[in-house]
Amino acid sequence: MAIPRFNRHVAAIKPSVTMAVTGRAKEMKAEGIDVVSMSAGEPDFDTPQHIKDAAIKALEDGFTKYTPVAGTPELRKAVAEKFSKENSLDYEPAQVLVSIGGKHSCYLAIAALVDEGDEVIIPAPYWVSYPDMVILAGGTPIILETTNDSGLKITPEQLKAAITPRTKMLILNSPSNPSGAVYSQDELEGLADVLVDTDISIVSDDIYEHLIYEGEHVNILNVRPELKDQTIVVNGVAKAYAMTGWRIGYAVGPEAIIKQMSKIQSQQTSNAASMAQKATVVALSGPQDHIQVWKAEYDKRRRYIVDRLNAIPRVACSTPAGAFYVFPDVSAYIGKSLGSKVIEDDVALCNLLLEEFKVATVPGSGFGTPGFMRISYATSMEMIEEGMNRIEAGLKALA
Ligand code: PLP
Repeated sequence: MAIPRFNRHVAAIKPSVTMAVTGRAKEMKAEGIDVVSMSAGEPDFDTPQHIKDAAIKALEDGFTKYTPVAGTPELRKAVAEKFSKENSLDYEPAQVLVSIGGKHSCYLAIAALVDEGDEVIIPAPYWVSYPDMVILAGGTPIILETTNDSGLKITPEQLKAAITPRTKMLILNSPSNPSGAVYSQDELEGLADVLVDTDISIVSDDIYEHLIYEGEHVNILNVRPELKDQTIVVNGVAKAYAMTGWRIGYAVGPEAIIKQMSKIQSQQTSNAASMAQKATVVALSGPQDHIQVWKAEYDKRRRYIVDRLNAIPRVACSTPAGAFYVFPDVSAYIGKSLGSKVIEDDVALCNLLLEEFKVATVPGSGFGTPGFMRISYATSMEMIEEGMNRIEAGLKALA
């Protein structure tokens, strides 16, 4: 029997840990088990009706064919206008690429720029996909570790020390998935000072920009416009418009880079779904009132969950300024046991919480920060209360 000889980069990556836990929780639910899922990075709200109506109209109008690779002209224009209006950043439609989700936008930026052996600096905790995307492109992820004391953010000194002649890119994600950490203007200035006058590309993943509860969103280009020739900003409609299933993300950057990304897209996926692009025009340019309403609800949940976690002995949870996750340090519970079962690491801890206490969370090691776990509060207050009761019971059983 022939044994498949896999591409070495593909063989080196692993499936997304968040997708795996969420899949297992769904499986348990399908078996009739009452699981509280706090693992998904997905708003529990529905896509606003006016956005759905735009997609329905697109279908009824027969807007069901291929579109230009980089996106419809009206959507590229709407994205450029969004950046001007919301981020004070000016882009031409030719500097916009619409893709199948922010995930693919990130991948295209990495695939267009990273060569075999190039190093890509990724602050930990990181979004699970970045290192594997870099490995797929043949690059080497260089992980910068952070602690609760630094607010789970990197410092300019750390960045400087990590740069080598092979450094091709830095990936920034503020607000962060999983930590919710938000870089301030001062902190970004410090990082920008290290990057200015280098040819290191910056991918700024701003997908949680609208979900900030303390402070405000700042992009590195707002503090150092000189970095524009080396920066790609990625965003999408999944989080702010509850459009995870519509699969629309976008990137803006120097036209030469956008062209290369577009070339890859033309050979991989052709274009994002036509009716979803129509809906996204309305999402970006229509009423934005829902965001404040959702944000107020997330904020209430955030405060509740942080208080509950910090009331559990030996759990250290900093208050995240953005996104919809908390990322507590639960390392004090590693090495404890329940009956004959020893909890060797955060993966074992999250497995125990899922299998024995029926609450799904994601182990910090999936994000490059062992000893922590990610809890999503993009679920109802009722579910959060019940989920927290279960987490508390699980940890107390180990204490
Ligand atoms: N970037 C970050 C940090 C994320 O958390 C996600 C989704 O979880 C994405 C990008 C991609 O989102 P999508 O591909 O659904 O637009």
